[in-house]
Amino acid sequence: MAETVKLEIVTPEKYVVSEDAQIVMAPGELGEFGILSGHTPFLTSLQIGKIRYQDTGGKEQVIFVSGGFAEALPDRITILAESAELQDDIDVERAKSALNRAEKRLSTFESNLDIGRAKAAMTRAMTRIRMSGM
Ligand code: ATP
Repeated sequence: MAETVKLEIVTPEKYVVSEDAQIVMAPGELGEFGILSGHTPFLTSLQIGKIRYQDTGGKEQVIFVSGGFAEALPDRITILAESAELQDDIDVERAKSALNRAEKRLSTFESNLDIGRAKAAMTRAMTRIRMSGM
């Protein structure tokens, strides 16, 4: 069997994943990147998107992340995410409500509207909805 890397995904609220993986794909600030065992160390920030990895049984697992940081070392990759959940744990109705709220906010002309925050909420919701339909 190919050598594995230890994948840890942690948020301020919970431990989401701690597992050996054959390959990990993640949404880096500059685009998606892949990590195999023996990778050169590096640190990057993450975009809102999905982490994919192949577990030791060869099955693909998919996790939503709402940005954060990834540190890759030759034998491990640690992801510190603002929030994250397994694809199967995504509550699509909750994401639809969040999308609705964000769209309403963005369609107003409130002087104190934080556009960046509303857009990020919309991207999180749209990504969750897309992933729950995969
Ligand atoms: P909401 O407004 O519905 O809270 P949000 O994008 O602001 O959405 P986050 O700040 O990303 O939520 O996440 C807060 C917590 O709620 C995290 O633990 C995250 O995993 C969980 N969470 C948020 N939305 C969903 C969802 N649609 N399905 C499952 N868990 C969710």
